[in-house]
Amino acid sequence: MTTFDYDLFVIGGGSGGVRAARVAAQKGVRVGLAEEDRYGGTCVIRGCVPKKLMVFASEFAGVAEEARAYGWDFQAGSFDWPRFRTNLHAELDRLEGIYRNLLNSNGVETFDSRATLVDPHTVELADGTRKSAKHILLAMGGRPVKPDMPGADLAITSNDIFHLDTLPKSILIIGGGYIACEFACILNGLGVEVTQYYRGAQILRGFDDEARGLVSEEMQQDGIKLHLGTNILSLERETDGGNGIRVKATNGDAHVFEQVMFATGRAPNTEGMGLGALGVELGRGGQVVVDTYSQSAVPSIYAVGDVTDRLNLTPVAIREGMAFVETVFGGNPTAVDHDLVPTAIFTQPEIGTVGLSEEAAREIEPVEIYCTSFRPMRTAFAGNARRVLMKLVVSTATRKVLGCHIVAPGAGEMIQLAGVAIKMGATKEDFDRTVAVHPTMAEEIVTMKSPVRTA
Ligand code: NDP
Repeated sequence: MTTFDYDLFVIGGGSGGVRAARVAAQKGVRVGLAEEDRYGGTCVIRGCVPKKLMVFASEFAGVAEEARAYGWDFQAGSFDWPRFRTNLHAELDRLEGIYRNLLNSNGVETFDSRATLVDPHTVELADGTRKSAKHILLAMGGRPVKPDMPGADLAITSNDIFHLDTLPKSILIIGGGYIACEFACILNGLGVEVTQYYRGAQILRGFDDEARGLVSEEMQQDGIKLHLGTNILSLERETDGGNGIRVKATNGDAHVFEQVMFATGRAPNTEGMGLGALGVELGRGGQVVVDTYSQSAVPSIYAVGDVTDRLNLTPVAIREGMAFVETVFGGNPTAVDHDLVPTAIFTQPEIGTVGLSEEAAREIEPVEIYCTSFRPMRTAFAGNARRVLMKLVVSTATRKVLGCHIVAPGAGEMIQLAGVAIKMGATKEDFDRTVAVHPTMAEEIVTMKSPVRTA
């Protein structure tokens, strides 16, 4: 019988890899894990966590003005980026320590090294050491990509934003996805003059049209200069005395910005891993192709998280990691459930969403749309025109709620709970017989009596 150094070797110490390694080790599995960068991965080190802390920082911008309407005499102060950044990195160091401890205290042997594949049961560390394992789990995540164009190296990506020495006075953000929109709002809140170019007709493609329309309007109301149907052709460093970046746009404009950020998507970290040579199938975007049990075309090699480009969200990677452990080491084949995953976009206002958009649902079956948009009590009292939106997409035939879309401060918190009901198969009538929590914004989700339209 072949003996291996490990039962499981995990490549990548992010959300999916760490969870799989830890849970497997708790079952008595001998686990090794290699991470070439920092433990915690994209989510903890350069994604969700630092981003959310920046969202919190940016939300203080309007507090003094709003508080005045409530009788307080606060004076708006200025934002000290270096102070915040120091605190931010101290917190990330603390979290990274927790991730390392989680692995070590559960008996996972860790290697601070890049690892590549040699054969279906062997990995090679950067120093040439080889480790064999019965199973290998690929959890290398992804990275931001920049389009290929003249001067692209002058621009930053979301990876760099947390390390800037100073906040720029002006920034151009290119893209219309999660990352572009979230950072447009964050930086705008922190006092940066933000311009955003998106090549399509409306930001946040794929989300419910009404929800994305409202966020787009609110972002512009807040001062973000959003240009739709616009992309860039080239970037160059100013030569006539200034130190800005001159950007040529597809609409013929040329403007100078202190900083330019590409938020034009992410690519799986599969390059140079030796995967193709082993027979691991890769998709067109370089992602590892896996079945519903996260198994690749090579039976001993599995993959979870962003490297598989299924649903690139931390909680999904974690579930994929746990399902993998249950399948391979628990004797209980467990497919990953990617259906009805609630998610939030931390724009200002936030979007919380679960299930089908109106546009997607009506392609499948006849639907009733329940929707309301209003000025919430707290900010309306302070004279703010900001609106929120609550929307349910309901199957005409089964009465099931197929989708719920909320645009409001705290929408991420609200959608988590709506997600439970919808995952359980709640009908519109189940929502109707739930008593409202008054006075809240969320109560509108159970008080919408008549459909605004059928589709
Ligand atoms: P997305 O794929 O969501 O968005 C990429 C954007 O860049 C799109 O608007 C796309 O336009 C545009 N784009 C792509 N290529 C080009 C190009 N060559 N020139 C100009 N524009 C271009 O990627 P993100 O990087 O924003 O986010 C990646 C993933 O990370 C998300 O899908 C999500 O899964 C996850 N994420 C989740 C968050 C959360 O849960 N809150 C936060 C951040 C990220 P088009 O629409 O036309 O294709």
